[in-house]
Amino acid sequence: MIRTSSLTRTARRTVAGALAAILTGSAAAADPAADRAAGIRREAARIESQVIAWRRDIHQHPELSNREFRTARLVADHLESLGMEVRREIAHTGVVGVLRGGRPGATVALRADMDALPVTEAVDVPFASVERATYLGREVGVMHACGHDAHTAILLGVADVLASLSESLPGTILFVFQPAEERPPPGEKGGAELMLAEGVFDDPAPDAVFALHAVPQQRAGEVAYRAGGVMASSDTLAITVRGRQTHAAYPWDGVDPIAAAARIVTAIESIPARQVDVRIPGVVSIGSIHGGVRHNIIPEEVELLGTIRSLGPDHRTALHRHVREVAEGIARSTGAEADVRIELGYPVTVNDPALTARMLPTLERVAGPENVIEGIARTGGEDFSFFAERVPGLYLWLGVRPRDVEREAAAPNHSPRFFVDESALVLGVRLMAGLASDYLALESTSD
Ligand SMILES: [Zn+2]
Ligand SMILES: [Zn+2]
Repeated sequence: MIRTSSLTRTARRTVAGALAAILTGSAAAADPAADRAAGIRREAARIESQVIAWRRDIHQHPELSNREFRTARLVADHLESLGMEVRREIAHTGVVGVLRGGRPGATVALRADMDALPVTEAVDVPFASVERATYLGREVGVMHACGHDAHTAILLGVADVLASLSESLPGTILFVFQPAEERPPPGEKGGAELMLAEGVFDDPAPDAVFALHAVPQQRAGEVAYRAGGVMASSDTLAITVRGRQTHAAYPWDGVDPIAAAARIVTAIESIPARQVDVRIPGVVSIGSIHGGVRHNIIPEEVELLGTIRSLGPDHRTALHRHVREVAEGIARSTGAEADVRIELGYPVTVNDPALTARMLPTLERVAGPENVIEGIARTGGEDFSFFAERVPGLYLWLGVRPRDVEREAAAPNHSPRFFVDESALVLGVRLMAGLASDYLALESTSD
């Protein structure tokens, strides 16, 4: 279905292009896509050193979630200097710029996250962070250990590139710079969910949304993608098992919540392997278990804390239902009672399959087919998922590992040694600019 319609569209474009060439007698008119791609390549090369300078500046001045004041000002000032309509202070420090193309058309959103982490930098570069901040009452180092400095600098570069080509763009581009992807501090709201609640996708409302994330699993020059669930939902699980306290030498006089809790742990951890579709990855883990004070007293209750991860929205719901049923059923069978609470975290990040298939040619043209890799889904969470729940989304992994570093030797995201090979940044600019421009062009030629 998708394949047929995109082939038809391609065929229609080819015919239209050929007709235009005959009418104007010009070879260039036959391929406006190639013209746009050349323009993006040229403009991205022009801005590359500035993107690296922005990234270093932001890297040297990292700010924790919901505290991205300096970064937001830098972003908003630049977008304004490009003549865009700019909204500041969305979801605390979020910034949105609207770029209107020379012709009407669809609207596409591009997203970058701006926050850093409470990590003390251990990378030896001249622009290393020496920033410190108070986090949960403790003094901590602050570092862009997840590469959001690179995402912000790349999207600033994309804004520059597309602003200079805006006359030829059929539609509108929304530049979304979001705070608090790494979660707001306890007690605060923030991030993508709050931006949406404050109307970031209301006017203009995007038809699709794109984002990328720096990863050391791929080398600089590569980009990885995957259709469907790519980052897991991350929900918090709390179970209170209530029994009846008694002497441990006479367990039949009470109800033992420890024995019930032990059975619950093994049973719920095996749910992903037996009770839901095993072809979709999922994890139920208990990370904390507390109950009792003494060897010969069976306590009144036991508290279990854990996490539920899933790579499919329906699968996620099924996991929640089974965890509830199994925990409550086991507790009941022993005479105890289980109170199950599941607190929803980030949803599953889903790459829309049709959008992914439609944009794959753009990735291959921009990065070269040999550098486009079908990646593996991850069980970490990502709050881009909220945007991609609202409109079809595509989330890419941009390789930032230096070419001479083995994959096993590269520090992961959130490590104090996380390192970005800056030669990757210009590819990020070309990819995001290419996706936006190709998406708008495809929409303007489709019925
Ligand atoms: Zn992170
Ligand atoms: Zn991140």
